[in-house]
Amino acid sequence: MVKTRAAAQAATKAEVAKATKAKLADRAERASDSSRVTDALRLPQGPVDLGLVDARGTPGFDGKKPDAERERADLAGRLGDLQERLFAEGRTGGTRSLLLVLQGMDTSGKGGTVRHVIGQMDPQGCAIRSFRAPTEQERKHDFLWRIKRALPAPGLVGVFDRSHYEDVVVVRVHDLAPEATWSRRYEAINRFESQLVGSGTVVVKCFLHISRGVSRDRLLARLDDPTKRWKYRPGDVDERARWDDYMAAYGDALARCNTDVAPWHLVPADRKWYRNWAITHLLVERFEAMALTWPVADFDVEAERERVLASP
Ligand code: AMP
Ligand code: MG
Repeated sequence: MVKTRAAAQAATKAEVAKATKAKLADRAERASDSSRVTDALRLPQGPVDLGLVDARGTPGFDGKKPDAERERADLAGRLGDLQERLFAEGRTGGTRSLLLVLQGMDTSGKGGTVRHVIGQMDPQGCAIRSFRAPTEQERKHDFLWRIKRALPAPGLVGVFDRSHYEDVVVVRVHDLAPEATWSRRYEAINRFESQLVGSGTVVVKCFLHISRGVSRDRLLARLDDPTKRWKYRPGDVDERARWDDYMAAYGDALARCNTDVAPWHLVPADRKWYRNWAITHLLVERFEAMALTWPVADFDVEAERERVLASP
């Protein structure tokens, strides 16, 4: 019997749903053997149905909000120390950097992450870039052109509030380019990120996963509070109407660009305190894996001390 297109799609959706559940259960089991938040949040390989991922979850953490806030405050000093080591390395000839890529629906907390997580570091060592619809000039170039120009210099922590992933998500949802164009971009992104990692940039990709309900609450809060109203655009409601299309586009983008060198992390983002706790941990863990040391002086410290003491 010939399956109808709709029946075939429904069957595929059911298979993806089953695979997603199995993989998330497997991830939880593996993560429980590890104390690393990186492992608890790592997106499993293969197709994923984001609709089945709990946005209120707190993988890797079983305390309450005040515990998470305390832990994060305790970790802030360590984060700042590691970032300064990277900065110092960059000032003394090192070529490494770190890039945090933040993606997620409107209100998912990309800006809040910059404020509360990146805000724990020295602003001198951070380069924050946000990406909106491309300008006329940017549109004349390949989609990665503006991204490459925004990469962090050696020693810096770069943060992308939206990124090249918009070119396979919003572009697909809104048909801003033909499928033949955006479907080639997954491979281009994987190649680009692999070169980036090869040249010394640690890439930390986080998808801030918010539920539809909490997103609505946050949009309402933006309307209710005059100090938040500037963040609201009437078009945000039209984007909400395409939620399922966005989840499908994100599901593919995440699964197809989930490489070992630049893996995706799925960060439940309905609870802001968990999101902040989780991304702080992710950054500390990735920094620690970089084995950052303080640069050794390239001068004779004792001789210099004598010179300083002898100086007028
Ligand atoms: P916001 O982050 O709220 O300032 O919104 C930025 C807007 O720019 C979002 O609606 C993004 O989807 C949109 N945007 C970012 N990058 C692209 C892109 N490459 N093509 C089209 N729209 C984009
Ligand atoms: Mg917005």
